[in-house]
Amino acid sequence: MKERVTRPSRSVDPVSNTPNGRTTSLLSDVLDALTKTDLPLSAYDILRCVSRPDSRPLAPPTIYRALEKLIADGLVGRLESRNAFVRIQTSNPSRLVYCICDRCGAAQAVENTPSCQLIDSAAETLGFQVRHRVMELQGVCAQCITRPSFSPASQHPLQNDLPARAPK
Ligand SMILES: [Zn+2]
Repeated sequence: MKERVTRPSRSVDPVSNTPNGRTTSLLSDVLDALTKTDLPLSAYDILRCVSRPDSRPLAPPTIYRALEKLIADGLVGRLESRNAFVRIQTSNPSRLVYCICDRCGAAQAVENTPSCQLIDSAAETLGFQVRHRVMELQGVCAQCITRPSFSPASQHPLQNDLPARAPK
């Protein structure tokens, strides 16, 4: 079974050809906020990250529109169970399995076409046509397994800034 792990990338891709520079800049800022962390961010987390004190406050629908565009482009994935978003890089987001750590909250995505096909085949035996598939696993990530005394509270103190990157 071939699997590919997708991790947040440090590089920010050109995300839009939108003639409106502000939209392009917002998309880039949203992507940047998600790229800086392994932790899923809610729309409100992202709003806080991309808002600038010297400019007009952004409205949540503006952030949701930016997220919809980035999801459609395969650059951002949505964690349904957390109503949060993560940076992904894949040509086929519908084949991703999200692994979410119960201890540190980090999320990683693994592309796994065979398991998605098995699930779709099982649904087809019911005459069910799959339109949207949500594959989310909860457990403990590789970093947290090797740190038995790991405490999320000590690693991720509450800050106004971005959440800390998950420990490596
Ligand atoms: Zn973890």
